[in-house]
Amino acid sequence: MEDFQGGWIMMITGGMYAGKSEELTRTMRRFSHAQKIGVIFKPKVDTRSGDDCVTTHNGGKMKAVVVDSVAGIRLYLDEHKDEPLDVVAIDEAQFLETDELLILAKELAMHGISVVIAALDKKWDGTHFKGVGDLLAEADIDKRLHAICAYCGHLASHSLRVSSSTADIEVGDDYKPVCRSCFNKAMAQRA
Ligand SMILES: [Zn+2]
Repeated sequence: MEDFQGGWIMMITGGMYAGKSEELTRTMRRFSHAQKIGVIFKPKVDTRSGDDCVTTHNGGKMKAVVVDSVAGIRLYLDEHKDEPLDVVAIDEAQFLETDELLILAKELAMHGISVVIAALDKKWDGTHFKGVGDLLAEADIDKRLHAICAYCGHLASHSLRVSSSTADIEVGDDYKPVCRSCFNKAMAQRA
């Protein structure tokens, strides 16, 4: 894949409804067609599918190992260390300890195992998931995806929370993809 030899790190970022999980599963399917062995991890907090699958908004599904921490990923990999492995994918990585994930991703790539990480880059208020920025800086391949703004039809880079909750981020359908301009307008009205 791409022009990188050996293990590499790919970041798939963007707001809600940008198609991150879809791109992650598409990438893993391409590996699978090439007879490469991969495993997908997802954090327990992602209850969108309610089971051990990565589910995309368009209804696609791929089997995933549910973990509650990066240590859980390490444990799984250690338990399966005698089996062949070419690529590791992590969906919804903003819910995991991104600093530890960065260390793990570098270790895996060093050992020839590629890493595909999908993560939301911004919180509901437009501030960043800091660790996602660090992962981006380390990535060999950066896929930045956009949804379409629910209000004006331009490229959406932000996720506007429809409810009034102030938790960092919640998975689900309480968000609308919006462009920067519509996001700023909506937040100004809210203030
Ligand atoms: Zn807009």
